[in-house]
Amino acid sequence: MSLLSIIVPCYNEEENVSFFYMELMKVQEFFANKEIEMEILYVDDGSCDGTVSEVKKIREKDERVHLISFSRNFGKEAAMFAGLENAKGDYLVLMDVDLQDPPALLPEMFAHLEEGYDSVATRRVSRKGEPPVRSFFARMFYRLMKKISKTEIMDGARDYRLMTRQMVDAILSMREYNRFTKGIFGWVGFRTKWLEYENIERAKGETKWNFWKLFLYSMDGITAFSTMPLMLASIVGVLFCVIAFLLILFIIVRKMLFGDPVSGWPSLVCIILMTSGVQFFCTGILGQYLAKTYMEVKKRPIYLIREKL
Ligand code: UDP
Ligand code: MG
Repeated sequence: MSLLSIIVPCYNEEENVSFFYMELMKVQEFFANKEIEMEILYVDDGSCDGTVSEVKKIREKDERVHLISFSRNFGKEAAMFAGLENAKGDYLVLMDVDLQDPPALLPEMFAHLEEGYDSVATRRVSRKGEPPVRSFFARMFYRLMKKISKTEIMDGARDYRLMTRQMVDAILSMREYNRFTKGIFGWVGFRTKWLEYENIERAKGETKWNFWKLFLYSMDGITAFSTMPLMLASIVGVLFCVIAFLLILFIIVRKMLFGDPVSGWPSLVCIILMTSGVQFFCTGILGQYLAKTYMEVKKRPIYLIREKL
């Protein structure tokens, strides 16, 4: 008998917990026929609603249901890490509790693992139901990442992914504090099969993400998987030197041909403003990396458990 661990991060999802369980139970027969046992690990990310008691209610009826409850909200990245670290399965799958990751896809995903893949990942090909501005910036983010990062980060990739124990151990060996799982999956490599599906809107409740949070998250992604922005300062520096050199030549030639009319105050102001702006911008980038490094060297735990069942 082998074991399949289903890891479900939840943050204020009391309405979805049992709904998700019911949907998941529809595929249990498929796995039972393959002699695969299931365990369901709900990771409560410091919810302040009835999420924990909902999970406990299910656990009373079904012993395969487990719970890890955080001492506060640590974010989905931490919840996924805790799930992977505490689950015991030979196969592990990460799923959202809002049913945006359809459990009905699990049999197909598993079939690909049996073909010899190490992981089966999903990506949504449409962004139906999402504000157009958000979709636009999301696309820009993935295009930028493609250019500045060596790690492959797939556009529209979800965290819904079925993996072998070997791949999960590789992921767990990456102990970094600033976790950007979409990048970590790509970084560890292994043979990955991609499945595509149309975006599904969440079952109940509301998304935990707003534009600002997503923006900050994208910055995490960039600093975690690219050092290209750090090179920007050097590139802009060289560019400005070249421009300055050409301007000097121009001024010398003009002086020799036409004498020296005193003018140029406005252009001087513009140049000063622009160069100092660029300098602040580059210092800001440095600051970003420094801040991330600061958090990394502190080696704080990624999550803290309050209750474990
Ligand atoms: N989630 C979490 N901690 C958080 C935010 C979200 O564990 O701080 C969980 C949430 O309960 C859900 C999943 O992460 O199961 C995805 O969240 P959400 O549906 O809000 O994101 P979206 O699907 O809109 O990207
Ligand atoms: Mg969702």
